[in-house]
Amino acid sequence: MSESELSPTSWNANASDQPTSTDLARPVFQLTRRSDCYQCKKPRPAKMCAACGVACYCDAKCQRLHWPEHKEGCRRQRDDMKSLSPENARKVAEGSGFFDFWREPLVRWAAYCINLGAREPDFLINCTFMAVFGRREDPPSEAAKFAYELGSSGMILDSDIPQALLEICTTDMVDLVVKRLAEMPRGPFLIHSLVGSGNIWTCYAIDIRTVFSDYDFHGAEL
Ligand SMILES: [Zn+2]
Ligand SMILES: [Zn+2]
Repeated sequence: MSESELSPTSWNANASDQPTSTDLARPVFQLTRRSDCYQCKKPRPAKMCAACGVACYCDAKCQRLHWPEHKEGCRRQRDDMKSLSPENARKVAEGSGFFDFWREPLVRWAAYCINLGAREPDFLINCTFMAVFGRREDPPSEAAKFAYELGSSGMILDSDIPQALLEICTTDMVDLVVKRLAEMPRGPFLIHSLVGSGNIWTCYAIDIRTVFSDYDFHGAEL
């Protein structure tokens, strides 16, 4: 079966090119990447923790202040990545690179799809933008940002996410994703995104007002 033709419902989490569930049940930090500084919460931090490649900061000062809190998670992430086979570690790194690169365009796209201005003010509280990707058969280059292509996307009620995920990844991964999603902040202006492929998933919340700074969402102050 050609991966580029797959629909989300036909993805097989056990296909040989997918990391096994045991591999990916552990690097949980891959699942939750925030788009703001882990210390001061300012958007678009420029620096990343070199040790784990996950936590992002404005600068060395923010990183230093956050270290007592980040230390344990940073170590866990490094251990988890070391425990992966080289092949699966490469896939996880590639998946992370891809989904990070496309994060903001995906959020913009989600916002257009939602037509938020016409929705009830609490519309975003109980739903998530879910986008399912497949690996490209013939990417134009080896760069991670070209590694996948879109299978399907749309808004989904949070209560429907476990069922949707069960059709495309293994049960331990479903549990992990649901747990991570539950830990994320909720709010009328936070777009939750869940994007992934096979058993590599990432979820993040972005304040839509930071993406569309000139749009009046329900008269809310920026
Ligand atoms: Zn900061
Ligand atoms: Zn770190």
